[in-house]
Amino acid sequence: MPEGDTVWQTARRLHEALAGKVLTRSDFRVPKYATADLTGRTVLDVTPRGKHLLTRVEGGLTLHSHLKMDGSWKIFENGRRWTGGPAHQIRVILGNADRTAVGYRLPVLDLIRTADEARAVGHLGPDLLGPDWNPELALANLLADPARPLGEALLDQRNLAGIGNIYKSELCFLLGATPWLPVGALPADRAAKLPALAKKLLEANRERPVRSTTGRRGQDLFVYGRAPRPCLRCHTSVRVADQGDGSRERPTYWCPNCQTGPAPSAARPRAAQRRTTN
Ligand SMILES: [Zn+2]
Repeated sequence: MPEGDTVWQTARRLHEALAGKVLTRSDFRVPKYATADLTGRTVLDVTPRGKHLLTRVEGGLTLHSHLKMDGSWKIFENGRRWTGGPAHQIRVILGNADRTAVGYRLPVLDLIRTADEARAVGHLGPDLLGPDWNPELALANLLADPARPLGEALLDQRNLAGIGNIYKSELCFLLGATPWLPVGALPADRAAKLPALAKKLLEANRERPVRSTTGRRGQDLFVYGRAPRPCLRCHTSVRVADQGDGSRERPTYWCPNCQTGPAPSAARPRAAQRRTTN
């Protein structure tokens, strides 16, 4: 699942390729927009909002997209071969005289009135990489449901927008709390640091090709994806278990030594889990 920094990079690339230029190609490959045609309109800007992308075009229209798990926007010089996936995964093509943007596997693709953008993204909390960032409101949102596990509260885009599954695990590590700790049980001094810490991580990574929360080359993440390898800080074996809101479980990593709080007792490294169930 893309994090806010990935979406920010995608928006910037789309903006550079499309903004200020007239669309000469518009091809929607989703049934509900089969007849939509944006050719002749100038793209005004492409803006990220949390993990949503808003491509605004002349005439008061916005193309709202979301990458979810594996969607992507690719940009190609005209005449170059497209490499984003098989043609049947293409949902939309927008092109101008120079370049073509191709949206692959986009699970959310809606053409809306720009005036109605709030219906698409108005539910989002303060955007970690947006002009509306408000750390006090983000913290208040996070703490509004004190019994909620920290990891779930961080992923809920209504609290603050931009954190995905990788930053969820990494932030919990940096806070010294397991993702299952009720957010209200986080010590006040650590809770107070949370919004600024999250913003720092996303901002540090929005220009980087490889995401890093550690600042160490070749060891880019403290716990995410490391089970059962050792924690970068204390060398205890990192654990993984699923955490979700019921709709979807997500692999969640933590160090049982560096992080305090509840955790699934049966959690084992994934490879070991597979072996025991086979
Ligand atoms: Zn550790």
